[in-house]
Amino acid sequence: MKRAIALLLAAAVSTGAVAATDPRILPTKLEPAWQAKARAVFKQAIEIPSVHNRGQVPAVAKLLAAQFRAAGIPNSDIHFMPYEALPGDHTEALIVRWRSPHATKKPMLILGHMDVVEAKRSDWKYDPFQFREEGGYFYGRGTSDMKNGDVATTMAAVKLMSEGFKPDRDIIFFYSGDEETRGVGATLGSTKWRNLTDSEFGLNADGGCPSYDEQFRSLGCGISMAEKTFQTYFLTTHNPGGHSSRPRPDNAIYDLADALEKVRSYRFQPMQNEVTRAYFAERAKQEGNSRLGQEIRAWLANPNDGAAADAIEANPLEVGITRTRCVATMLSGGHADNALPQSATATVNCRIFPGVEPAKIQAELQKLVGPKVEVKPDPEFIGVPTPASPLRPDVVAAVTNAVHKVIDPQMDVFPEMSTGASDGSFFRAQGIPVYDVDGSWGISPIDERAHGLDERIPVRAFYDDVVYWEMIYKALAG
Ligand SMILES: [Zn+2]
Repeated sequence: MKRAIALLLAAAVSTGAVAATDPRILPTKLEPAWQAKARAVFKQAIEIPSVHNRGQVPAVAKLLAAQFRAAGIPNSDIHFMPYEALPGDHTEALIVRWRSPHATKKPMLILGHMDVVEAKRSDWKYDPFQFREEGGYFYGRGTSDMKNGDVATTMAAVKLMSEGFKPDRDIIFFYSGDEETRGVGATLGSTKWRNLTDSEFGLNADGGCPSYDEQFRSLGCGISMAEKTFQTYFLTTHNPGGHSSRPRPDNAIYDLADALEKVRSYRFQPMQNEVTRAYFAERAKQEGNSRLGQEIRAWLANPNDGAAADAIEANPLEVGITRTRCVATMLSGGHADNALPQSATATVNCRIFPGVEPAKIQAELQKLVGPKVEVKPDPEFIGVPTPASPLRPDVVAAVTNAVHKVIDPQMDVFPEMSTGASDGSFFRAQGIPVYDVDGSWGISPIDERAHGLDERIPVRAFYDDVVYWEMIYKALAG
């Protein structure tokens, strides 16, 4: 879900003249014996079609739990948590606690999800649920979103346990079963099951931070520390209707079209927070004296410089990072081709700047479109505003060190705000800061295939991720 930003940076930072080495052909640091073990579990995970409504998520939970159990985690610390995501969609979360024999710090939480987005055999080149290795890639649904992260975080722990490593804080693994649909698992995990998940902070493996462009130049590693809030609103117009042979000036569809025209050109207030300021400071460095670089510096110097903020927002590289954005995504209206429409509805999806209440955006939209249009939030999903997570130096240092040691010693590591949303937002909303820091990488844009066709991950990126997480555990629990 979260790789959009990487793609956009490609054009921005590709300044290096010297032809860079293709990172896919470089050797991984994971030992061959552990490559084989990790690959075998990955294959099994990919070949379980854990799409919503297929009841297969528990099989993934069983597979991961078996690795932890074999490594020495007692059954009393392995919890299968069945729940209903959507009506009739029975799924499960897995919660595993790796206990510290001498805890000196509060636990840390590792987040992931075991469900994947639907994939039709007829659309793909090969069966999406048949694991395949070809041309330096692993293929299959979930290879980059995000069974790679589930397996890498699990096998890194299993490997460290086999080497006798003892963490100095409990490490809790929380893998949900419906991140791609409703996030009920993360809601329960951060509230009802809090006794099993309570932690000082969380590291989310759903979304790799490093990436490269097609010339193999590093695009840096953005640690996502904040997420915009996902909220859909329905804009509905009503009208008495009538016979279409006698049209009147008032018309439900025209009224809705007028309202959408206003939404289209509406400007939400530009905003900054600690994370986006740090992100833009990094971007300004990368941009140097470019027009965008100048605009970013102007806005950082004066947060009220609306013109600079608008210029940044208008740049395809930074869309959605300076403010709340809303966009029409679906339409319905009318009941017969020979009748004047009695109602028309537009679906408007908003990504709300962290800390802003969805009710405030609803009021702003209502004021914008006027009293003739009904503005209602999607009752199925009321977004929870989530505060940006603080810039934890220990997390930034651990990620920077692991990225430099395992993936690329030159790679920039910087904070960012994600315009997408994940399970992390539910934990943030309940007071547990979350950082999206998976170590897997890809080549932008050719490997940006999450939710799409012929999803894949470079073989080295998957194996590297196991070593990356080992380093993260050692740095933050050692
Ligand atoms: Zn995901």
